[in-house]
Amino acid sequence: MAVIGAFRIKKRYILGLTVFGILAFQIVQTALVWWGEKNITAMSYVLANKIIVVDPGHGGRDPGKIGVSGVAEKEINLEVSKRLATVLGQMGATVIMTREEDIDLSDNSTTGWKSKKQQDLTRRTELANGKNADLFISVHCNAYTSPREHGAQVFSQPGSEDSKRLAECIQSEMTGILKNTTRKAKQVDYFALRKTKMPATIVEIGFITNHKEEEMLRDSLYQSKVAWSIAAGIIKYYSDTPKDQEELDEVSKEMIKTFQQQPGHFIPAP
Ligand SMILES: [Zn+2]
Repeated sequence: MAVIGAFRIKKRYILGLTVFGILAFQIVQTALVWWGEKNITAMSYVLANKIIVVDPGHGGRDPGKIGVSGVAEKEINLEVSKRLATVLGQMGATVIMTREEDIDLSDNSTTGWKSKKQQDLTRRTELANGKNADLFISVHCNAYTSPREHGAQVFSQPGSEDSKRLAECIQSEMTGILKNTTRKAKQVDYFALRKTKMPATIVEIGFITNHKEEEMLRDSLYQSKVAWSIAAGIIKYYSDTPKDQEELDEVSKEMIKTFQQQPGHFIPAP
């Protein structure tokens, strides 16, 4: 009898533990789903009606800078840009990439490196202007004669206050998330920034002339982290604009629902 009693208690104990386990699991699951939905809603809300052009620098016959291991800048730019486009798409933005493969946008018939480069850059900016994009984000890697130089840095066109604030928002998120740059956002006159009509930045995601940073930039996990930090900066930019907040308040719940079910779509480059 004593043995059976002990067994019964054990059985009840096991049953109780199992029920508790299932309940705890359910509660955690529900909380995670709720937390995720809450965040997706918040993020979609901010980017739902935005068209963002993501521009992977260089491509095709233009490799950009060459890293210490021999990697071409154009390859890293494309990997990070693809990740950035995906993240922004998931957040509800309509993303347009200037290139999705290893090409430049100049015509085959155009000859001479300078003319080809000019045509390539002009087409990128014309694409953004033609689509009435809300933002233009160009992704590049930096290089310098000294291998010591490192850290991401974001550039904007002198005289454009919106671009300046966008660059500062991205710089601050990259600094906070990547924790390996002390650089400040800077205003520099670049062709692509001058020709685009919307807030625009060139994001130099790091130095491929620095051994450690180049190795990180070739790592796919770090590439995702970089993409997330840029996206976080864009979210910060929109969250901080009071005018935009008013505009956002008018976005109907139906629209958010649509974007949640169909998170952003991809328009391929021409
Ligand atoms: Zn570049």
